[in-house]
Amino acid sequence: MDKIQRLHEILTISRRVVIVTHTKPDADALGSSLGLWGFLTQTGHSCTVITPSDYPGFLRWMPGSKAVHVVNRNQPDSQIRAEQLIGEAEIIFCLDFSNLKRIEALEQPVRNAGAIKVMVDHHLEPESFSDFDFWDVTSASTASLVLKLIEDLSGKEYIGKDIANCLYAGLMTDTGGFRHSNTGAHEFNVAARLIQYGAEPSKVASSVYDSNSLNRLQLTGYVLCNKLTVLPEFHTAYMCITRSELDRFKAQTGDTEGLVNYGLSIEGVKLAVLMHDRDGEVKMSLRSTGAFSVNEMSRKHFKGGGHRNAAGGTSAESLEDTLKKLISILPEYRDELNKD
Ligand code: 5GP
Ligand code: MN
Repeated sequence: MDKIQRLHEILTISRRVVIVTHTKPDADALGSSLGLWGFLTQTGHSCTVITPSDYPGFLRWMPGSKAVHVVNRNQPDSQIRAEQLIGEAEIIFCLDFSNLKRIEALEQPVRNAGAIKVMVDHHLEPESFSDFDFWDVTSASTASLVLKLIEDLSGKEYIGKDIANCLYAGLMTDTGGFRHSNTGAHEFNVAARLIQYGAEPSKVASSVYDSNSLNRLQLTGYVLCNKLTVLPEFHTAYMCITRSELDRFKAQTGDTEGLVNYGLSIEGVKLAVLMHDRDGEVKMSLRSTGAFSVNEMSRKHFKGGGHRNAAGGTSAESLEDTLKKLISILPEYRDELNKD
């Protein structure tokens, strides 16, 4: 029996299900989770989405978001409740990550849980921890994999506007609005299918992209004007944003998302890095064009990873020392960054 048939069989009776996604979830993480949540709740399962941290305000429109259990590190009860849900679950779906480190304080509870674990993801170099893998590094988004999973589980009839909009948001953002090199005929085909199921492209795009606060836009303006540095020798652009700068613009979760792409939009730049203070460490976002792998760079130097052209990482050092480290490792990549 193949894995879809086995999973289908497991889901023939009502199950206690937890869906967990990575910390600081983006539209693909939350959209794929809520898309799957919509399907599983409609098919009679008792299902909760858990996020290891809060998520950006521009994702609050997603149907089902009010039912998400958000772990807040300042509220121990929220962690206790998450551990209870994970402990009682019969099935745990792990969406848009394949390295348990990505779920922070939920790592051990999920690792130790007796539930059947199902991983659905498209990031490089997955960890082996699950009973069922729906892992495809060639997929532009986890949302596309969730759509296929629901279809393969004979769930087409349950996919309406709400599920389709959540999944469309994941596909739209992980392809950079259908502009990144991961966008091909298949992605447009997935988008077309989602629209046939009821997705509303223009509504989703404006909910995600046109819901800036004035503070967020002003933070963007400030960073572009004052904090963007180009190192032509290394075809690299970087931005460092301190805690006090974030505070000055009352930055909320998600307010720095997408900023790194401005660095990459400069002609000749092949590597862009955004660094900012977050929760006592430095959070890094790395983007590249062509063959240059930020996944490799981030894994080697910044305890992170992701995709070849989009990765994240962290540093326990200060912002200043993290920047020094970045600058010190660039010569290692000089030849690669100077290739055509
Ligand atoms: P972002 O820079 O937008 O946070 O993340 C870019 C990509 O890298 C996303 O696919 C994200 O899931 C992944 N990513 C972000 N931070 C980390 C990290 O610390 N570790 C790993 N392995 N992946 C990350
Ligand atoms: Mn993704």
